Amino acid sequence: MAKRAKKIREGRDYRRRQKSTSIYFLLWAAFTALSLIIVLLLGFSQSFVMEQTYKHEAAQDVTEKGRQIERRVIEGAPEAFGGNNSAYIRYLAVYYDVRVFILSPDGALLYPQEPQTPDGEKLFDFSQTLARMQEEMQKQERKSVVYEGEDEYVYGSKISLYGRDAYLYVEKSLNLIVETSKQMDVRMLLVSVFIFVLSFAISSGVSGWLTKPISEMTDKAKQLARGDFTVDFHGTDYGKEMVELADTLNYARDEISKADAMQKELIANVSHDFKTPLTMIKAYASMIMEISGDIPEKRNKHAQVIVDEADRLASLVGDVLELSKMRSGLETLKISEFDMSSYLHEILSRFDYLKDTKGYLFVLEVEENLWTRGDELKLGQVVYNLIGNAVNYTGEDKTVFVRLKKMNDAAFRFSVTDTGAGIKEEDLPTIWARYYRSSETHKRPVQGTGLGLSIVKTVLEKHRFVFGVESERGKGSTFYVDFPLVSK
Ligand code: ADP
Repeated sequence: MAKRAKKIREGRDYRRRQKSTSIYFLLWAAFTALSLIIVLLLGFSQSFVMEQTYKHEAAQDVTEKGRQIERRVIEGAPEAFGGNNSAYIRYLAVYYDVRVFILSPDGALLYPQEPQTPDGEKLFDFSQTLARMQEEMQKQERKSVVYEGEDEYVYGSKISLYGRDAYLYVEKSLNLIVETSKQMDVRMLLVSVFIFVLSFAISSGVSGWLTKPISEMTDKAKQLARGDFTVDFHGTDYGKEMVELADTLNYARDEISKADAMQKELIANVSHDFKTPLTMIKAYASMIMEISGDIPEKRNKHAQVIVDEADRLASLVGDVLELSKMRSGLETLKISEFDMSSYLHEILSRFDYLKDTKGYLFVLEVEENLWTRGDELKLGQVVYNLIGNAVNYTGEDKTVFVRLKKMNDAAFRFSVTDTGAGIKEEDLPTIWARYYRSSETHKRPVQGTGLGLSIVKTVLEKHRFVFGVESERGKGSTFYVDFPLVSK
């Protein structure tokens, strides 16, 4: 029921993921938005900031020129002009590239002299210009002012010319700036459109280029998910991150394929292991029914075989469960402090029947009072499995050496040595991972399920203890575990 619910939930998540936006689109949108922002900023700076800057410069320019003209006007026309003020002022206007007038307080044009109609009528009326200037002077409470007119900047100053009040009017036209600015705006718009179209194209190109390896890897990962372990991920053309991702995926593929192979091997071996005792049980039960049922001696012998085989089945099931519980990470360690020395004696006592009935010899070198910290039951199983293996694989002399020795203030070593055939060097790394040793002809005094060392490895790795094996062909093997020493 719970499994079903999980499946449904996964299904839903999967659908939701499929609906979400693609990285291609997100990248493309991000790039395009970025270029749009840049273009808008450019446009804004052009039409607003630039115009403001131009105007500011124009105001500064007219102020500067106005002051110089004012100084020169007051000084009077140099000799070269023969006292002709009108000519001098015209000259200044051309020189400074501005319009210059001097007005009388009643708004009449003093300089340059104005051409008049034959009947003496004035051509221009400067009264409004003067009124505006006077208004600015009042507003700014100054004699010299700078202000913005309709399409121009004006420098105005009240001066005293030949003992009379007069007004200097210097005007710089903004027409050129406004015109240039407008032209620039049009060009800017064209450039912006061009940039936008270009970035649009580049965005889709770059997004496609960036997402291509992801799509490729996704396709391959799907292939992998379908159980095809021949897929090869490669990201060489796309930069460091993609190469790393490809390497990681290749690593994952190898691990999954190894796990898959192990899983298949485990199932094959475990089912084989289940089958043998079951066949025996069935055969001996039939024998009891058909032949030995009435002969107590034979019947008991046959019944004993059934009991032994049932025990074998039970320990096999126990080991498989133990391993899968630990591997799945469902089980946590129950850490406590305990006296390993006395625990070792207790474990060794379980092998007493071998001493008594089968002539095994256990040579002990066990230091007392060595305390450690860990999961007592699981570490006990480790020690039991290692001693059991030594018993199973020791030589003709049926001798097993068991040692428990302090190494330093922080650790002590448990080791068990047998006198058997040893382990081939090439087998050394794999014995821990092996679920089962199929070429089994050895008659073992201690029941083995082929999972003993896998359990040892899993438990010790969970504890992060150092452990290992040293083996010499024909002389025997030593398995060891280093325990942390707890002072008591
Ligand atoms: P098994 O039940 O087969 O002993 P284990 O996981 O305990 O399973 O051990 C895995 C394999 O490692 C064994 O089948 C055997 O080949 C090898 N092995 C383990 N201990 C020893 C030893 N003391 N001497 C020689 N070989 C050993």
